[in-house]
Amino acid sequence: MRTTISAIKADIGGIGGHTRPSDELVEVVKKYVTQRSKEEALLIDYYIGYTGDDIHIIMTHALGVENEKIHKLAWDAFKEGTKLAKEQGLYGAGQDLLKDAFSGNVKGMGPGVAEIEMEERPSEVFCILAADKTEPGAFNFPFWRMFVDARSNSGLIINEKLASGVTFRILDVMSGKVAELKLWEDKPELEASLMYPGRYVVHSVLSSSDDESEPIVSSSTDRLHNIAGTYVGKDDPIAIIRTQKNFPATEEAGSAFNNPHYVSGNTRGSHHLPLMPVKLNSAASINYAIPIVSCLVFSMHNGKLTGPHDGFGTADWDLQRLWASERAMIMRNQGFIHPATLVPEELEYNKGYEARMDKLNRKFKDVN
Ligand SMILES: [Mg+2]
Repeated sequence: MRTTISAIKADIGGIGGHTRPSDELVEVVKKYVTQRSKEEALLIDYYIGYTGDDIHIIMTHALGVENEKIHKLAWDAFKEGTKLAKEQGLYGAGQDLLKDAFSGNVKGMGPGVAEIEMEERPSEVFCILAADKTEPGAFNFPFWRMFVDARSNSGLIINEKLASGVTFRILDVMSGKVAELKLWEDKPELEASLMYPGRYVVHSVLSSSDDESEPIVSSSTDRLHNIAGTYVGKDDPIAIIRTQKNFPATEEAGSAFNNPHYVSGNTRGSHHLPLMPVKLNSAASINYAIPIVSCLVFSMHNGKLTGPHDGFGTADWDLQRLWASERAMIMRNQGFIHPATLVPEELEYNKGYEARMDKLNRKFKDVN
């Protein structure tokens, strides 16, 4: 059967800052989705959780991608949650709901969306990667490790389909255009794009077999896409990655996060810090808001979900958390000096920085 996975996430309020939603808030969103799902029989299954201050709604259904009813259900659930977030005085209540009224599709309205429609395999398995305090380009390096780097993933040698190379679809944040880059012939151009995650972002990955190409990865880039041409700051990404058989093994996908790399985001969306793998339903740290990513591992049959298993929850990942904390302190010791802080173009959406520079520029005078 053809099944669609829709992962939609939004920040609608955090306790005492950009930390995590309240238990009551998560409960309200859950109850709302449960009730609407019963009334309208839209969904086959669903799961609701959070990473930092972002609540994610993972839904399975038979209605395809960009379906108005599915998007509206998530939008309405976030709207319902926002009422409680305001009652509780949560910080940034409803902050990711940029529009007042729903208009056909949540894309461009604030929430992040990753969706894949597929012909289910007999044993369909996938991971949801949900990150907070960073930007969609934070997944560039891990996706490169999964699909390009045999040092990270020997499946690229051993598995016939992976060895034949996948196709990356890369979004240019400034133009809003998407380039298709096929391995292995476009490898240098692919790497040239992945090199600057603030400008070029992995939108999706497809298998490029001669017969039918299948979707492997879908990553949320909507907000960036819809406001192309102007730098809009950060949007915490969520991605779906199908694993096993002709795709990366679940552990090949997970281990692409085992060497916490520096990404942009963090406090005021203005700094570089490492991406720390965390357990499901973890709060963001108040140690300068270290970027975090969680991994929800699911099995699915006829759209029915089993899981999530907590991908980064096993004991060994404590080592990566320690490394990330150490690397974060190394960068934080550099204070406000770049590269601890972002380049000016990425800072410029912070009005305060522009004001400082205006004042500074007025003081520059010619000397003799
Ligand atoms: Mg967030």
